[in-house]
Amino acid sequence: MPFKADKFIPQMEPHFGVEEERSVSEYMASGGWITEFRKTEEFEKAIASFTSCKHCIVVNNGTVSLMMAAIACGVKPGDEVIVPNYTMIATPNSISILGAKPIFVDVCSETLCMDLEQARLAITPKTKAIMCVTANGREPKEGLDAFVNLCKANNISLIEDAAQSLGSYTKDGRHLGTVGHVGSLSFSAPKIISTGQGGALLTNDDAMAYQLRRLKDFGRSSGGLDIHDSIGFNFKFTDLQACVGIEQMKKLAERVDRKKRIFYRYKSLLDGVNEVSFFTQDLDNTTPWFIDTTVEDRDQFMLFLKAKNIGTRVMYPPINKQKAYQIHGNHPVSDMIGKKGLWFPSSAHLTDDEILYITSMVREFYGH
Ligand SMILES: *Cc1c(COP(=O)(O)O)cnc(C)c1O
Repeated sequence: MPFKADKFIPQMEPHFGVEEERSVSEYMASGGWITEFRKTEEFEKAIASFTSCKHCIVVNNGTVSLMMAAIACGVKPGDEVIVPNYTMIATPNSISILGAKPIFVDVCSETLCMDLEQARLAITPKTKAIMCVTANGREPKEGLDAFVNLCKANNISLIEDAAQSLGSYTKDGRHLGTVGHVGSLSFSAPKIISTGQGGALLTNDDAMAYQLRRLKDFGRSSGGLDIHDSIGFNFKFTDLQACVGIEQMKKLAERVDRKKRIFYRYKSLLDGVNEVSFFTQDLDNTTPWFIDTTVEDRDQFMLFLKAKNIGTRVMYPPINKQKAYQIHGNHPVSDMIGKKGLWFPSSAHLTDDEILYITSMVREFYGH
């Protein structure tokens, strides 16, 4: 064994370099006001260009962006929005904060994305939107277009929670988050690129972009003027974060490539270890954000790895069973993920030696 983990390998950590540091210092020396302005516009343009989307609007975080997407789709108190039962809790919370009701449907066992048929069955006269999470960069099994059609047929909106999908595309090359009416990204610390906190809205609809820009800036009719056409709030970004974000975007292509190689290496090195199962991941079109798996004997396995300086993380428990919601329902796949789902170390700067070490420890635990 050429490599020994003498320091802990975290399940995930963000990575910033001298480029980010230099950009922030230069910005500070230039006398910028820190609040959003030219750097933020430049960051938005970089995302719009990368995703080939007409409009990108950055905001505080990926929870606020989902909430704004719901507002822009007309979600009001008492309305229902269909969400997957396997997701980060921010997805349903962005609906609950509006006084609307998230309706939980189970996910598909291959993609961990919402199951189309279950979504169809959950539609009622109160349904305003479907919030589809492209889990770990994956498209739903039936394709996002099937969700577009379902929404169209029922006159409701499709919101894409693409927080985990920067660098991931549909099979015909459209960036995730740009297929529905509006999509949302997150730049929180564990995401593919990070600005510490941060979120973005993607839309090709001019009227929606206009509304979202008003919404994040007190409903101002134009910058700096205290004329308000509509009710808005303050969900603005900062140029300081944008300095970091612009540098992170320059590293995105490299990270996308690295994440794919990391996934491939784990998968090949764990070939034949039946106790660890991977989900389908189309490496041509999608970028595995985290290495997500189901494992046998999860608790003991995690303890064993921790003792070997390897960090892992339990995947999201089924949301309907969280104390915050406690809603009865039949969700066998998200229940199974709650029992067996495990994320392996997945940072973009994880080395090949580290992966070899991790997988050899996995083999040791299961006696292979
Ligand atoms: C990270 C994440 C969010 C929340 O984003 P924040 O920027 O942390 O608010 C929402 N949905 C999904 C699927 C996420 O992974």
